[in-house]
Amino acid sequence: MNTPPAPYPVGTPGTPWGDAERAEWLSRQPRQRSYEADVLSVIERLRPSFDVEEYGRLDYGPDSYRLFAIRSRDWRDDLPVVLVTGGVHGYETSGVHGALQFVEQHGLDYADRVNLLVAPCVSPWGYERIHRWNPHAIDPNRSFRDGSPAEESAALMRLVAPVRDRVLVHIDLHETTDTDETEFRPALAARDGKPFEPGEIPDGFYLVDDSENPQPGFQQAVIAAVEQVTHIAPADGNGEIIGSPVVAPGVIEYPLKELALCASITSAPYKTTTEVYPDSPRATPGQCNAAQAVAVCAAVDYALAHR
Ligand SMILES: [Zn+2]
Repeated sequence: MNTPPAPYPVGTPGTPWGDAERAEWLSRQPRQRSYEADVLSVIERLRPSFDVEEYGRLDYGPDSYRLFAIRSRDWRDDLPVVLVTGGVHGYETSGVHGALQFVEQHGLDYADRVNLLVAPCVSPWGYERIHRWNPHAIDPNRSFRDGSPAEESAALMRLVAPVRDRVLVHIDLHETTDTDETEFRPALAARDGKPFEPGEIPDGFYLVDDSENPQPGFQQAVIAAVEQVTHIAPADGNGEIIGSPVVAPGVIEYPLKELALCASITSAPYKTTTEVYPDSPRATPGQCNAAQAVAVCAAVDYALAHR
């Protein structure tokens, strides 16, 4: 018999958090790494070849974070836009570094064919705290809607608004981690005063398609490319990955708009969300970053070939 999990250390089971519990949770989130050293330094390196745009700023207590996007140098209104977003969940490290690796290693290959717009680290506070939420205990990736309660999401939506109907492909780079099950899902249940229902973390890479406009050929092209770099997550005993039916190898679907997910912010015909699994004994951090970069290339290549 399994021992029931210990209650989350903040709040009272069954009671949603108020301001006091949010403050207590926040006090338990130390800064663990540096956005400036890890991310801004790489963005600086890209300046000779790409335009770098500051698209917003997050002011959180003593901390302030400048938000940056990377654009193709010679932006042409007659070319389709490719949107790459990383670090919407700041703790999902390969989303951030995979986006940067794509730009650095492959970005110029697409010059004259597309306009690249890359926001590599949407949630820098979460990057530094290795957390899923922002300091208000809000998940930016459930907050991409008008009047967003998360400034991370609102700033990205403002950046993208002028081109949202000209985006051909949007790929949002994420990870699914063991800490989702040990920390972040329990924290979410505690925050909302709900019971924590244990789940299963899939071992391998998978994609999330839009159930409102599924693009199976596109998703399979990305899976086929990533499979060369890291293993694809199998379905669990119920034919599911994290509670959703597997519709094709390594692919599940969500209603992106209804859930206010980042991948819903454009009217792109091709959208996907990557989920790299960094905790596998069979995946190195280098492979995880490469899987993200390869996924972006495959997504763009497929979209350009099927316009
Ligand atoms: Zn995520």
